[in-house]
Amino acid sequence: MSEPQASEQKSGNDYKHTLSLPETAFSMKADLPNREPQLLSHWQEIALYQKVLDKNRGRPEFRLHDGPPYANGTIHHGHMLNKILKDIVVKYRSMSGNYVEYIPGWDCHGLPIEHQVDKELGEKRHTLSQADKRKACETYARKWIDAQRRDFIRLGVFGAWDQPYLTMNHDYEAAVTRMLAKFSDRGNLVRGKKPVHWCYVCETALAEAEVEYENHTSSSIYVKYPIRKGLPTLLEQWLAPRATEAASLIWTTTPWTLPASLAIAVAKDADYVLAEVENRKNKRDVILIADSLLEAVLQAAGAKLLAKSSPVKGAALCQVVSEHPWLFDRQIPTLLGEHVTLDAGTGLVHTAPGHGPDDFHLGRLHNIDPLAPVNGKGIFTSEAGEYAGLHITKANSIIVANLDKADRLFNRPDQTLTHSYPHCWRSHTPVIFLATPQWFITLDHAGLRTQALKEIDATTWIPRWGRDRIYKMIETRPDWCISRQRAWGVPIPAFFCQTCDEPLATGDVMRHIADIFEQQGTDAWFIKRVEELLPPNAKCSKCEHLIFRKETDILDVWFESGASYSAVYKNSPLRQVEHVVDLYLEGSDQHRGWFHSALLCGVGAQNRAPYEAVLTHGFVVDGQGKALSKSKGNYTEPQKVIAQRGAEIIRLWVAGEDYREDIRVSEEILQRLTESYRKIRNTLRFIFGNLHDFDVNKHQHLLGDATDPAGLDVLDVYALHQLEVLTRKVHKAYAEYQFHQVFHLLNTFCAIELSSFYFDVLKDRLYVDAPHSVKRRSAQATLWNIGYTLLRLMAPVLCFTAEEAYGFLPKSERLPTSIHLCDLPPLRESWFNEVLAKEFSCLIKIRDVVLKQLEEIRREGKIGSGLGAHVVIHANHEDGQILLKHQQNLASYFIVSAVEVEVGTQDVSTIQANIAAGKKCARCWIVKTDVGQHIVHPTLCTRCAEVVEILSSQKEHS
Ligand SMILES: [Zn+2]
Ligand SMILES: [Zn+2]
Ligand SMILES: [Zn+2]
Repeated sequence: MSEPQASEQKSGNDYKHTLSLPETAFSMKADLPNREPQLLSHWQEIALYQKVLDKNRGRPEFRLHDGPPYANGTIHHGHMLNKILKDIVVKYRSMSGNYVEYIPGWDCHGLPIEHQVDKELGEKRHTLSQADKRKACETYARKWIDAQRRDFIRLGVFGAWDQPYLTMNHDYEAAVTRMLAKFSDRGNLVRGKKPVHWCYVCETALAEAEVEYENHTSSSIYVKYPIRKGLPTLLEQWLAPRATEAASLIWTTTPWTLPASLAIAVAKDADYVLAEVENRKNKRDVILIADSLLEAVLQAAGAKLLAKSSPVKGAALCQVVSEHPWLFDRQIPTLLGEHVTLDAGTGLVHTAPGHGPDDFHLGRLHNIDPLAPVNGKGIFTSEAGEYAGLHITKANSIIVANLDKADRLFNRPDQTLTHSYPHCWRSHTPVIFLATPQWFITLDHAGLRTQALKEIDATTWIPRWGRDRIYKMIETRPDWCISRQRAWGVPIPAFFCQTCDEPLATGDVMRHIADIFEQQGTDAWFIKRVEELLPPNAKCSKCEHLIFRKETDILDVWFESGASYSAVYKNSPLRQVEHVVDLYLEGSDQHRGWFHSALLCGVGAQNRAPYEAVLTHGFVVDGQGKALSKSKGNYTEPQKVIAQRGAEIIRLWVAGEDYREDIRVSEEILQRLTESYRKIRNTLRFIFGNLHDFDVNKHQHLLGDATDPAGLDVLDVYALHQLEVLTRKVHKAYAEYQFHQVFHLLNTFCAIELSSFYFDVLKDRLYVDAPHSVKRRSAQATLWNIGYTLLRLMAPVLCFTAEEAYGFLPKSERLPTSIHLCDLPPLRESWFNEVLAKEFSCLIKIRDVVLKQLEEIRREGKIGSGLGAHVVIHANHEDGQILLKHQQNLASYFIVSAVEVEVGTQDVSTIQANIAAGKKCARCWIVKTDVGQHIVHPTLCTRCAEVVEILSSQKEHS
């Protein structure tokens, strides 16, 4: 009995390398940052994307419609997450029976770009013509399209990169115009004056999605509106002996809206009282206020309660008429407003229909025209009396001071409130509500809203909560203001009668203009004269005059992108139902953005949603869950990550995280993924390294479709069963868009099933048996199937590594030249073997106990490795049957020298590991009693001696 030398005491896996892997094998060193660009240029050379389409032509089409990112800046983590998720879907579908074009797009028009160009132009922007400014915007957009495209391609995203859709393309602009014509046809396009979100810095209306909430400190004032008449008798009687006038008390945080104050709103069922108080100036006031808010208001205003009346309901206050507090001789009626709540303020709401949507609706109900004495720059007009010419931000403090002077201010003038307030997404200044003439898409005409809600329920939302989110938004949203007072966009193709100002905006007029845009682009609108644009015989519908002027507003960019599906899929003949997309896939902020505008466009144009399913993902945050911020520097820039680690690691990151949540990224996370990647790569290296001498044509009968598990070693049959189980699970995970499951399944399969069991056992057959032996070929054939299957399963995610490793797969003629031209592995009933799986689960359970015992006697110094051990199993009946069936392979499964099985009547199997009898074979390191029996090879066991004989005789023959 010879103890192994210390130098040989290698534990675990690498104990016998009688054959080493050739130099040219699949290398452990990934070198992704250098290898990936080589693969990319190879793919470009062979026109791989086109080849994938050709392969799938004639199969059912799957449409994933790309949501266009803004062409303004380098890509960030959110872009990478989004584009890679889409690419995984596209690659998966392309490998599983669909024809999938991926047509990337860019959103080129709009304020973000115009704003940036304005900044770069500086003072010059005031003198530049609109046409020249649009040229500058186009150049700017093209620069960033090129930069972003380079980065997207670098990530391994397949698509029609040389023919993307751009919202500034002529045919796209024409499609948008034709979409608007359809809204005009059905009567949903109207011109009106309603308060809209307005940025006085950018001088334009803003869409919901262009408004961001930020903290803002406003002045917070309580204002007295002297009551002239109409108090209910109960209050009148209470007031009479007090010989003072009463005032309606309102609260506002926007003093600049007070010149536009036209009414006071109260809640119908709330209790209101008159309260006699000693105010902060120690004078007496009687105020009308909601009873429940009295105490809080008095405290805020530093006033003391002296007496109060019995309450009356808000409904009893409809006759109350107050005065405008100081500026105008104006009667202020009291109205019942459903929007009045009692969670803040006084229960009496100052109402300016020109500056608030609730105010506007209440005003319309009572025939009060909106007053908005403010122009687009935020400066008061002459309708604001003495404040004309003053900017509203400067007017606030002056108005408060004037109120105080007029004794209409109930609290101190310097009181403020910090609250979340809407800001412009570009200039980050507070936005205001401003009623100006705009174009609207009306939601409640011709069933637009009700049909949109129905379509939401006909759509699959992934995850489910997306449905509720967009449903609530569509259910309650106001009419859609689609006009913008800017230059960089698609003009609203409408005319106005020079005589009576009546708009000319019929569907037919718009389609006439669309034809011009298709030929010449929307620049035509800015360059051509009215007469060149008008359709023949255009006539004012109201006064029949023939002279018109052009509309100068452009369309909301959200309308443009909402119309994208009709622009991109207009000529595609593959679908029965025209213009419908299978999947929209964007960040969860798009419920109020693109999903929303696309839905309204789809329903407006065709009475149905443009999509079958909508998938949303979360946002990228740092390791602590905080938003990524350039100023905080809490992330590494995408370009740097790619250069350091390779795009493959980013793809693994995207697939590995559950995208429905916010997705974390940090150096630590990327490092962990790099290690996971290394393990997967190590698995591939073992597989493809061991196939170097495998002739696929010669062993066809062991492979793929021809595989007859009966001809394989029983362990290999079991490995194929596990591979089949994996394949089924991965298929399901892809189909359900559970990509983190794909990652998890592949990772576990490589680490557990393969590396810590199957490969470990296989080494003996691969390295010790004769190269041409049936057993070794069986192992190789199984590795070939595992390798080929794994590569296809991982190709949608690890598109670079799968392709690289595929180069090392021995191929017959019939296999395609790129992994991306393969289909996902089919399901194989013949590989599925539940009976055998049950037996192996028993064997592996026993193996785990054996390994523990071996570790123990190894630590005691009795053996060097498991191969020095002889294991005796006293098995119970159940285990015994299985062990006996596999007896001849047990030593190799447990990686010991010998295994003895004794079946008894006990309940529990017990295991005993002893030192093996015999000598250690110099070649296979197994301790055996037959070592030394062969005269020519005295250091080898019989099995090794025979193999060596075969090898040397082959050498002689060759
Ligand atoms: Zn702005
Ligand atoms: Zn007219
Ligand atoms: Zn041997």
